[in-house]
Amino acid sequence: MSTQPNVANRVDGGGQVLSTGDLADLNQRFRTAPPEEILRWAVHSYSPKLVFASSFGVEDVAVIDMLSRLEPPTRIITLDTGRLPEETYEVMERVRRRYQVAIESYFPGKDAVEQLERERGFYSFRRSIEERKFCCHVRKIEPLGRALAGVNAWITGLRRDQAATRTGVEVVEIDAGNGSIAKINPLAFWTEQQTWAYVKEHDVPYNALHDRGYPSIGCAPCTRAIQPGEDVRAGRWWWENPTTKECGLHVGPGSDGPAKRA
Ligand code: SF4
Repeated sequence: MSTQPNVANRVDGGGQVLSTGDLADLNQRFRTAPPEEILRWAVHSYSPKLVFASSFGVEDVAVIDMLSRLEPPTRIITLDTGRLPEETYEVMERVRRRYQVAIESYFPGKDAVEQLERERGFYSFRRSIEERKFCCHVRKIEPLGRALAGVNAWITGLRRDQAATRTGVEVVEIDAGNGSIAKINPLAFWTEQQTWAYVKEHDVPYNALHDRGYPSIGCAPCTRAIQPGEDVRAGRWWWENPTTKECGLHVGPGSDGPAKRA
């Protein structure tokens, strides 16, 4: 691999600088690699300055199960927006007990949420894309920034076929939106079927809403069940155009705009 970085990324205290050439090499190597191999590389390369950001969808619980077999342990963080479905808390608790892991919740800023609700109401996100992105910024993006402060890499459960906005997701990316740390997406090339096969085979706890027509689960007021034949992301922010339906958590080479995270 090249030792001359031409992509800025943070490496203080754990991790490796990745050049553009390194990224290409890694993504070629990992294109057909099992997610477990990718996670082994991530843990080896970035621990202890590595976190897994989980929203406890089926992809995320699969990754948690895989990480539970690796040493040293990887921190699990989650964004508790204050609007999550009850079922998400239930699966978080089941995961916590099953794997004997701490789940680090990050809340939105108290003052920001108080101001949001007092000035804009309790369903401002339904009024426009701008209002919705503002809510996502307050409840998700700002807390994620705090959660990622001080780490050199984060892991996600993104898959390419989850959404029109995710078709370009690579296994290893540089996250320019979060201090140019590495972003590792071990399931990028997995299908929904592969993910469920893993979860069933390993008896991994999963969100009960998945069995009620929710393939993709976010905040309660912004998520609904889908009908047979609908796109898997059709139940997220269903009042918006599919190409805008990200909350800004996932901005990067695999995304096509500045608001690409869910
Ligand atoms: Fe707000 Fe909905 Fe975004 Fe949750 S998903 S942060 S409730 S706009």
